[in-house]
Amino acid sequence: MTDTKLILAADALLTMDADNRVVMDGAVLVDGGIIAAVGTLKDVVANNPGVKTKHLRNTVLLPGLVNTHVHSGFLRGTAEYLPVWDWLTQHINPMHRVLQPHEAEAASWLCYAESLLGGTTTIVDMWRYMDGSAKAAKEIGNRLVAVPYVGEHPDYNYFDTLDMNEAMIETWHRKLDGRINLWVGLEHPFYSDDAGHRRAIDMAKRYNTGFHTHCSEARIEVDGFVKRYGKRPMFVLDDIGFFETPLAMIAHAVWLDPDEIAMISGKRVSVAHNPVSNMKLASGIANVRELLDAGVPVGVGTDGEKENNNFDMFEEMKVASLLGKLRYDTVQPLDSWEVLRMGTITGARAIGLDHEIGSIETGKRADIIAVRADTPRMTPFFRDGPYANLHHNIVHAVRGSDVSLTMVDGKILVEEGDLKTADLKAIIAQVHKVAPGLFDRRAAFLAESKGDMVQWTTS
Ligand SMILES: [Zn+2]
Repeated sequence: MTDTKLILAADALLTMDADNRVVMDGAVLVDGGIIAAVGTLKDVVANNPGVKTKHLRNTVLLPGLVNTHVHSGFLRGTAEYLPVWDWLTQHINPMHRVLQPHEAEAASWLCYAESLLGGTTTIVDMWRYMDGSAKAAKEIGNRLVAVPYVGEHPDYNYFDTLDMNEAMIETWHRKLDGRINLWVGLEHPFYSDDAGHRRAIDMAKRYNTGFHTHCSEARIEVDGFVKRYGKRPMFVLDDIGFFETPLAMIAHAVWLDPDEIAMISGKRVSVAHNPVSNMKLASGIANVRELLDAGVPVGVGTDGEKENNNFDMFEEMKVASLLGKLRYDTVQPLDSWEVLRMGTITGARAIGLDHEIGSIETGKRADIIAVRADTPRMTPFFRDGPYANLHHNIVHAVRGSDVSLTMVDGKILVEEGDLKTADLKAIIAQVHKVAPGLFDRRAAFLAESKGDMVQWTTS
């Protein structure tokens, strides 16, 4: 018997493999952070005598959820009912102007704790001063794709810089056994000049890493591209060279027309779909069905605490499913299996990590969650037969608070709904301690600038 091995057993196990295989009375052998075997409890125990078994009774196992677009932060609930432009110029960008590293780090601790408690194991976080974010992920245990919020233009000199982004890549990329990943980030293509675009692209290629930016979120933005370049956004990104990078992921991609979708099909591009944020900021409804049909991997993302206002990926999957029905005026566009794949394996593909995570299959990292099956929300639970409803219940009924166990790299981070790797009360207390300073400095800045904030330079 070895300490590095553990069998997790539950009432059912959703593998999210290519066939969406479900194993009733399923078990998974975890060995040193890797999934070493998957099958029925009877078979896994028979083949691995002497290995300790953890029986998670009345639960269902599934791969840890992949949140493909997040911003750490603590503006939650403080900038509501605003169109995206007012919201950016009066709340978000002034916050970025005054944000300090210790505040940014406190926000990441909060975001990662909330995410793990709700069953999200991988977080693509576009945020600032991300050394603190990487330290938080190191301690708390989540898988992180860190994407610095870069502005490489004199009008956006208060964001992170490409120099900071490169230093972060040098320090953190693929560290902690690959648990921390560093990408190149731009807040938006308009937040950089031509030289910055070129440098960002070259940096992603040189370090063989991903590139992430917001694009085609709002209609007004598409108009801005057409006015500035004479073309729609995806064609401009193609001209600039962003699709030469190893993997370019676009957040939102709401307003892609058929020609843009056809053009990006087959390129190294993925999309982070943020249905709650798109509804809250009245941005629009993305053409997810067409993107998936064109072979573009579409993951699900919550966006930030200020756009959502939580990081519950179960809620996000449900809204993705429902919003798809509204968009296409039919009940069929995205079935529960497809949405569940977007939250797991397709999301992992969207961030280029599907060879490591996103499904419970032998050889992958042991990023696994357990969802309670003994709740009213999961009742009735028909295991099989004509009323088999497990996948529908997971997508449409379960909430993040139903997660009882969260494991990353074989380490249990949440058990019985409690965060084991950090003091949750201390994380919350730290945000309460530092938040007033940030709000005060932002108010002072806005008073001094008389609210005259530039959004999008004209050159
Ligand atoms: Zn965003």
